[in-house]
Amino acid sequence: MATRGHELPVVLNPDHVARVQQALLAWYAAGHRDLPWRQTRDPYRILVSEIMLQQTQVERVIPKYHAFLAQFPTVEALARAPLADVIRAWAGLGYNRRARYVHQAAQAVCEQYGGEFPHDRAELERLPGVGRYTAGAIACFAFEQDVGFWDTNIARVLHRVFVGPEIPRRQLTARQLDMLANALVPPGRGYDWNQALIELGAVQCTARRPACLTCPLLAMCRAAPSMQAALAQSQQHRESVPFTETTRYFRGRIIAALRALPPGAALDLNQLGPRVHPAFTPERLPWLRQLVDGLARDGLVEVAEPAAMYDAGTDEGIADDAVRVRLPGA
Ligand code: SF4
Repeated sequence: MATRGHELPVVLNPDHVARVQQALLAWYAAGHRDLPWRQTRDPYRILVSEIMLQQTQVERVIPKYHAFLAQFPTVEALARAPLADVIRAWAGLGYNRRARYVHQAAQAVCEQYGGEFPHDRAELERLPGVGRYTAGAIACFAFEQDVGFWDTNIARVLHRVFVGPEIPRRQLTARQLDMLANALVPPGRGYDWNQALIELGAVQCTARRPACLTCPLLAMCRAAPSMQAALAQSQQHRESVPFTETTRYFRGRIIAALRALPPGAALDLNQLGPRVHPAFTPERLPWLRQLVDGLARDGLVEVAEPAAMYDAGTDEGIADDAVRVRLPGA
């Protein structure tokens, strides 16, 4: 139900919703990528895949997923393993804190639930490293519950189809996206529906090159008529921004600030901010966090691991000002 101030900014028309559901499910049924985690309902395997897929591309995850499960075939095997072995098995995926979280989650499942994953989404969400998105994904993909959840890709698709282009900025809050994602799940078809949204976001409705003309949702997508214009405008906007306001410039400033530190020293984001942007205020923390995450993905900085929940698929994660950054291997 809508909370005051969190109503959807659009009215969902039941006929429109039904047509979208039908078209998307038919498109998915006609063919999709054969991903290994789509061949199992084992919550442990779903957990491993979802945590690996946070911030790592599918092609890189597939061989690591097989190797990891060959080494740790069950949740008990993972829980018993020394953390050092798990971190070694994680090599090549980056963001090693995820290895620690998946290990801790396995231990929590064994110690608190006798090795059986809880089915309840709220309980799943309390496992280490399991945020709102991952809990929803396990509830849906392992236990076939009709729940909605979203990450950046699902959010993009839902926004485009039911609201319009998400460019230059999203018009839905995290709470509104929760509501929208949950409201759209066709009863009894949650598994296929959520897989289909993921598939469409990955192969058809990509961030920069949505293939509207061949899209199964073209006739019913609110963004379609203005999508290409919105993308062109944002491209023009990017090109008209002076260099000293570009992401590249600020990435360089972050590296320069870290290079100026004594070896091994790190900064938290509140310390780093004023060295990167002369008008830095706490409101800019999410912006800075995004830049730092991008640099970490490229292996240019290391983000220290705060002891807090982390789920890259949602807007909920560790507090930005708890993050500490340094040069790699410092
Ligand atoms: S019509 Fe275009 S914008 Fe709409 S869902 Fe399809 S690819 Fe995305």
